[in-house]
Amino acid sequence: MPVILDGKNLRDELLEELKNKLSSYSVMPKLVVILAGDNPASQIYVNNKKKTAEKLGIVSDVINYPATVSENELLEKINELNNDRAVNAILVQLPLPEHIDKTKIINAISPIKDVDGFTPENFGKLLTGEKPYVYPCTPKGILLLLDKYGIGLDGKHVVIVGRSNIVGKPLAVMMVNRNATVTLCHSHTKNLSEITKTADILVSAVGEKLIEDNMVKFNGVVVDVGIFKDETGKTRGDVDFANVSKKTSFISPVPGGVGPMTIASLMLNTVELFDLQNQKKS
Ligand code: NAP
Repeated sequence: MPVILDGKNLRDELLEELKNKLSSYSVMPKLVVILAGDNPASQIYVNNKKKTAEKLGIVSDVINYPATVSENELLEKINELNNDRAVNAILVQLPLPEHIDKTKIINAISPIKDVDGFTPENFGKLLTGEKPYVYPCTPKGILLLLDKYGIGLDGKHVVIVGRSNIVGKPLAVMMVNRNATVTLCHSHTKNLSEITKTADILVSAVGEKLIEDNMVKFNGVVVDVGIFKDETGKTRGDVDFANVSKKTSFISPVPGGVGPMTIASLMLNTVELFDLQNQKKS
């Protein structure tokens, strides 16, 4: 049986360390989350983030807007938060309602308060190999998980399925920066299984049932980022865990793999931004 990449356990360890570090702070970092609309999954994610922050003593505010909120209202709020010295980290929960230009909203966040690392300044730094203020949460969480289990990247062939700005693209860059050879696949990729079979490390970030046992390399590593409900309402990932796990050396479960690591990274990023802003002030 493979080793399970246990994201819950590592999340708990990282958050415990962070809590200890924060116990010496006289002022606590503050994270503000903007939520527009009533997407039920987004509400659950935002509540989890808020609860985790509170357990650590991080101050967290959620600003709720109806789905009818205008782009200008959101831009004005972001501008206000950018100028509020008590706010250290700003997160806009995606997806936004369709009439809102997501890029315009993200780009309005001050890069030093951009806790997701999605602004052009942070993304650009990532591409050039310069250190961004913070790394995007899900890719950062995946690398922390691989590091924890001693899974090196140097010289490895990594295949990532999914090229979103939040997972696949930044992860590909971060892995290349750590000397992996990366193939980034998407819905137009031909002969997907021929490519995935060559992966020393396969990461799937799609959001549908996709990765079967005949698509993975014997003794390879499989990281499942996908999370959705199947026909029976059960939460699952992209990977057919029962069969794929028989072939792999390491595999991440859903739930309990990448999801908890994303939240841990968000907390780490909030504190990193707080520290950076306070270094700048002094
Ligand atoms: P997204 O923006 O919808 O991107 C999905 C990607 O999958 C796209 O690049 C798409 O290709 C590709 N794709 C779709 N069908 C495919 C197929 N049959 N074969 C190959 N590629 C295919 O999704 P996302 O926001 O990155 O999220 C992906 C999944 O990860 C979702 O289930 C989401 O809930 C989950 N997620 C989990 C976490 C976590 O913390 N665990 C964090 C973020 C996301 P095109 O670009 O060609 O359309």
